[in-house]
Amino acid sequence: MQYKIAIIGSGPGGYVTAIRAAQLGMSVALIEKYETLGGTCLNVGCIPSKALLDSTEHFFKATKDFAEHGIKTGTLEADIKQIINRKNNVIKKINDGVSYLMKKNKITVYNGTASFIDKNNIKISIADDSEETITADNIVVATGSKPSILPFVPIDKTRVITSTEALSLSEIPKNLIVIGAGVIGVELGSVYARLGSKITFVEFADTMISTMDKTIAKELQKVMTKDFSPNYYFNHKVTKVENLGNEVSVTAESNGQSIELKGDYCLVCIGRKPYTEGLNLEALGIVLDKGKIPVDENTLQTSVPNIYAIGDVIRGAMLAHKASEEGILVAEIIAGQKPHINYNLIPSVVYTFPEIASVGLTEEQLKEKGIAYKIGNFPFSALGRAVASGDTNGLVKVLANSTTDEVLGVHIIGTRAADLIAEAVSAMEFRTSAEDIIRTSHAHPTYAEAFREACMATDNRAIHI
Ligand code: FAD
Repeated sequence: MQYKIAIIGSGPGGYVTAIRAAQLGMSVALIEKYETLGGTCLNVGCIPSKALLDSTEHFFKATKDFAEHGIKTGTLEADIKQIINRKNNVIKKINDGVSYLMKKNKITVYNGTASFIDKNNIKISIADDSEETITADNIVVATGSKPSILPFVPIDKTRVITSTEALSLSEIPKNLIVIGAGVIGVELGSVYARLGSKITFVEFADTMISTMDKTIAKELQKVMTKDFSPNYYFNHKVTKVENLGNEVSVTAESNGQSIELKGDYCLVCIGRKPYTEGLNLEALGIVLDKGKIPVDENTLQTSVPNIYAIGDVIRGAMLAHKASEEGILVAEIIAGQKPHINYNLIPSVVYTFPEIASVGLTEEQLKEKGIAYKIGNFPFSALGRAVASGDTNGLVKVLANSTTDEVLGVHIIGTRAADLIAEAVSAMEFRTSAEDIIRTSHAHPTYAEAFREACMATDNRAIHI
């Protein structure tokens, strides 16, 4: 079969490319090696983790907060099997939704593993050992990523696990050791902490979520400590992990001192690495750069012009919405349009409770770049809506250029931060000043008012602090 575009991988990068290309009138093939569409994001990433975070947040709130709201619940019990079942049903519903969208857009889906024959031909190996070859004018590699592992840590998938297994545990761990307090580690740590697991974070950096603004990371640690009292071992390098049968032993070092920690599960969340196995990129002369497929900054073309790469398999943030943006860009470029992506304004979110969301530069980055800035902080404890709901943890931090007043970074920790950040992203896309936001009417009482107040605070004129 001959197509205008073939896409390898059906994650948020691949399937979104397919839909946009179909909208633009192209004949489209989408190849996925697993039975279900949606990639990491839908099957073992964003969606299942958020389903578990939502279920466990309900449980945690019911145990901790309902009484204050005057709601009597009696004794509560978390049924992990039902929590996991519900998560599986959520995945299934969205899997079906993606399949429906493929049909609706007349996209041909191939279930099998793709491998390049040459720059226009792909061999698809299908589960029943049969093979098919398709031809395409343009090919997009959207094969995503897999969890990174430490070579000396045996991932046995029973006691020593990655995020994938942590999304389907059949029991609530008593003592969960999480190696890596980055985004995925703190999210999955939160899931089990809310259900009663004692969490121990072992982290190489000196803080949690070390890529984010330090003020926000500190606030997260404060709230987590208040809610769950996890153990933190920062500046610690894991040197050994052993499955001892019913428990695990984790050895870590800091400043020449070694410690041994025991738990019933060890979750390894040290990041993800691009996945290109079996693609036969060598046949095309595409040489990987630290495992990633090198691409042109603007067009996302590889060194072979009709082959593009997007999402986790290339440089940049490993985020679903970044992958989707890139997919849309590639489809539009192939259609002759001139799209662009503003990589400075890709928001990052951590779905802890409270949520964290961030866009633009951190205070540390502004210092590094020598840009003069002013800060506006506004705590949710001073916000009427937050007090009414009882969710007063956290703050909004706005960083604006001290000369031009342009908003350069917005960092939020607080209820609904993931949704609040959208206003900042849109405004910053239009190069907003803090004054522009201040002059924009915000409904009362809303969480969004905190962003406006934080902009006011850059000029020492917040109303409620
Ligand atoms: P993927 O989603 O990884 O999809 C790649 C697809 O390609 C896979 O289905 C794979 O089977 C297929 N494939 C690979 N090789 C072949 C081949 N040779 N032939 C055919 N098919 C192939 N991001 C967010 O933005 N928000 C979140 O809240 C979030 N939460 C996350 C939580 C967890 C636990 C994890 C692990 C990740 C999370 N992410 C989140 C990251 C997000 O999942 C990824 O950034 C996103 O899925 C990347 O999309 P992609 O299309 O590049 O690749």
